[in-house]
Amino acid sequence: MHSRDSTRWDLEHALSQEGCAICRLTQKAIARFVDGLLYESVNDPGIRRRAAQALGFCHRHAWQMRAVHGSALGMAFLNRDALNQWQAQLEQVQKPRGRGVGQISKFVHHAAHANRAKEKCLVCERENEIEQRDLKVLIESLAEGDFCAKFRASAGLCRPHFAQACDAAARVETLDALIEMQIEINARLVAELDEFIRKNDYRFMAEGFGAEGDAWMRAIERLAGAAR
Ligand SMILES: [Zn+2]
Ligand SMILES: [Zn+2]
Repeated sequence: MHSRDSTRWDLEHALSQEGCAICRLTQKAIARFVDGLLYESVNDPGIRRRAAQALGFCHRHAWQMRAVHGSALGMAFLNRDALNQWQAQLEQVQKPRGRGVGQISKFVHHAAHANRAKEKCLVCERENEIEQRDLKVLIESLAEGDFCAKFRASAGLCRPHFAQACDAAARVETLDALIEMQIEINARLVAELDEFIRKNDYRFMAEGFGAEGDAWMRAIERLAGAAR
């Protein structure tokens, strides 16, 4: 299990790298979680039952797992159980043979129920837990000056994670500091975008691009969060 100290250390390290620290840490932790899931699913009926209740995985995570090298057998186990679960739900609402055609609206309603998962995607659930844990430690750590300095010098948070951080702030001072620092961090990116756009003008093209060359990509991540 992750201790608070190791989360704090991971956060500091992530803040020294590019992009949103919460996005980075979540990506890494989910990659590890998915590996474990695929490996353990072969022998763990509990995990398979849970994944079956969710009727497999959400679109994003299903394809992420598909892309993991060596995922074939794990995916076969997990998805066989999920398919069997879906089959069982469909069979429950099958029109009883020999009976006349019932009311279509009622039948459609039951069919919709049979196509619905009873549990959330297991990976989404884990992702949410990791984000909440890391955001909590991040917010607590902002009470310390040296951590604040690291945050200020970093690429801050993406807008979705920043919004979550604001929601989770328990003190006026923390929320005020968060907003003040993110404004400063965003202003740096806006200045880089200004420079990038200016240099795309044929009159200044000869100057060549510096660090602002990929500012347009960093702006995508800042607003939407990292690609998942
Ligand atoms: Zn993020
Ligand atoms: Zn998911």
